[in-house]
Amino acid sequence: MLPEWLSIRPASTEKYGSIKNTITSLGLHTVCIEAHCPNMSECWSGGTATFMILGDLCTRGCTFCAVRKSAKGALIDPSEPEKLAKVVKEWGLDYIVITSVARDDLSDQGSSHFADCVSEIKKVNPNTLVEVLIPDFRGDLDCLKNISKSHPDVIGHNIETVERLTPYARDRRADYRQSLRVLSNSKAIDEKIYTKSAIMLGIGEKEEEVMTAMNDLRDADVDFLAIGQYLRPSQHHIEVKEYIRPERFAQLKDVALRLGFKYVAAGPFVRSSYKAGEYFTKSIISASKA
Ligand code: SF4
Repeated sequence: MLPEWLSIRPASTEKYGSIKNTITSLGLHTVCIEAHCPNMSECWSGGTATFMILGDLCTRGCTFCAVRKSAKGALIDPSEPEKLAKVVKEWGLDYIVITSVARDDLSDQGSSHFADCVSEIKKVNPNTLVEVLIPDFRGDLDCLKNISKSHPDVIGHNIETVERLTPYARDRRADYRQSLRVLSNSKAIDEKIYTKSAIMLGIGEKEEEVMTAMNDLRDADVDFLAIGQYLRPSQHHIEVKEYIRPERFAQLKDVALRLGFKYVAAGPFVRSSYKAGEYFTKSIISASKA
C-alpha cells in the first residue's frame, strides 16, 4: 500500500480533457500517457504536456519504464514537426518539453528528426522556450551536435539512478559514465544551453551513492536537477524498495543547492518534466537577481 503522502492527487479538469483530445486526433504522443506519469492531470490542467516524438516504441529495455518496447521503432511521421508547432501555437504554450524514445534502429538515432521538431517549433513560436529530454544517443557527438544546432533552451538527459544500480534499472546499452559524458558534452558544444538531469529514488540506492551521483552531475556542469520517487508501473517492472519521506526530499534539495545546481526540484511526485516551465522560469529569475 502507498504511504499517505503518495495517495492524494488532484482531480482532472476540463482543460485536461481538451488537451487529450487534440493530442489523440493529431496522432501525437505524450510521455505523460506512455509512462503512466502520476502528475498528468495536474500538468495538463495547467496547460503543460511533455511530447514524445519518434513514435511510441522504444528500442531499449529499461526495467523501470512503462513505455512499450520493440527492437524496431515505429514509422516516423514526417509531419510531426509541423503538427507540434501547430499545437504549441494553438495552446499558446510558452514552454514545451520534447522527449523521445531511443531509436537505436536508425542511422542517426533519430537526432535529425528531433532537431527538426525543435527548429519548427521555434520558427512558428519564436517566444516559446523549448526543453528537450534526450536519449543517450550511445554517446555519439554528431547526434548531440544535431540537437544543439536546433537551439533548444534546455538539454536534459536523465542518469535515472546511481552508478551501481544502472545495469539493474537501465538497458544494457545505457551506462552511467556515458550519460554523464552526454551531459558534459552538451554543455561543451554550446555553453549557453542549460543542462538538466533527474534521479529517481526508492530502488535500493544508498545515501552516499546519491551524494556521489549529485557530485558527479555537478562535475559534468549540470545546471538543473530533479529528484523523485520511483513508482512501479506494473508487476512486470522492478520493485519499489523504499518510499522516501517528503522531509528527506527537502533535505536532499538543500544539499543539491549547496552543491551549486541552479535549480532543484525534489519531492515524491517530481519527474524530470514536472512543471518544467515553472521551474525553469523560477531558476532564471533567481539567477538574474543573484
Ligand atoms: S530509453 Fe529506457 S527510460 Fe527511455 S523510453 Fe526507452 S525504455 Fe523508457
